[in-house]
Amino acid sequence: MADDETYEIYAVHYGHHDRPSSANYIGGDVHDILQPLDYYVWAIIGRGRTYILDTGFDAAMGKKRQRTLVRPIPDGLKAIGIAPERVEDVIVSHLHYDHTGNYDIFPRAKYHLQDTEMAYATGRCMCRSFLKMPFEEEDVVAMVRKLFAGRVAFHDGTDEIAPGITVHKIGGHSKGLQCVRVKTRRGYVVLAADATHLYKHFEEGRVFPTTYNPAEVLEGYDTLRKLATSPAHIIPGHDPDVLRRYPAAKAGLEGWVVRLDADPRQ
Ligand SMILES: [Zn+2]
Ligand SMILES: [Zn+2]
Repeated sequence: MADDETYEIYAVHYGHHDRPSSANYIGGDVHDILQPLDYYVWAIIGRGRTYILDTGFDAAMGKKRQRTLVRPIPDGLKAIGIAPERVEDVIVSHLHYDHTGNYDIFPRAKYHLQDTEMAYATGRCMCRSFLKMPFEEEDVVAMVRKLFAGRVAFHDGTDEIAPGITVHKIGGHSKGLQCVRVKTRRGYVVLAADATHLYKHFEEGRVFPTTYNPAEVLEGYDTLRKLATSPAHIIPGHDPDVLRRYPAAKAGLEGWVVRLDADPRQ
């Protein structure tokens, strides 16, 4: 495998939320411990292009949702040499508020989204407050505006974004949730986003309380395993441990931007 056929992947940490472990699982948790969530966007770089997975939330949304914005996303991207205004492709895992805000920072980008997610976020399920809860009206409207501006590329199920980068519909947590598989120097890495919030969700077959369909969540864990070279190639969407397992992108970025195409610490 020549180097130019693979991609570098970076997790860019931007947000944090302290919560009890019981808040992370349907049925609660027998351990009475703190299990914070961390918030990331991901950058995939190779073949002379940069692909961004998800766009996070900004300071105002963090305040509204009582989540801490640790560092603005553009700062994290600039720290590894990415100019957001030049990015041409943004993949959106799903339309929840913590994955699709900051919609003005990539003015040139085309947004890659599953058909099902757009239909879900603009259809009858949004009449239900339980299902609507993780969505923000302005985020969804911003995506509709991009659609009419010719800036949305739809995908249905499995599709190729570029050679070595594919999206795969998982559903479950949100009806049209997709994960991303990327060819790297260590094999196929799967950016799960919210297909598994924490390592424990897929390792122990447990389900995060925000869900459209728990059966699809559980099936999704099998899909992640099939897509990834090994379980150590699956990257959860909200696990603080990602920042400990993977090396900093460069000196000074410890705990902020880590390199996911590098081998993890065991
Ligand atoms: Zn979500
Ligand atoms: Zn999320």
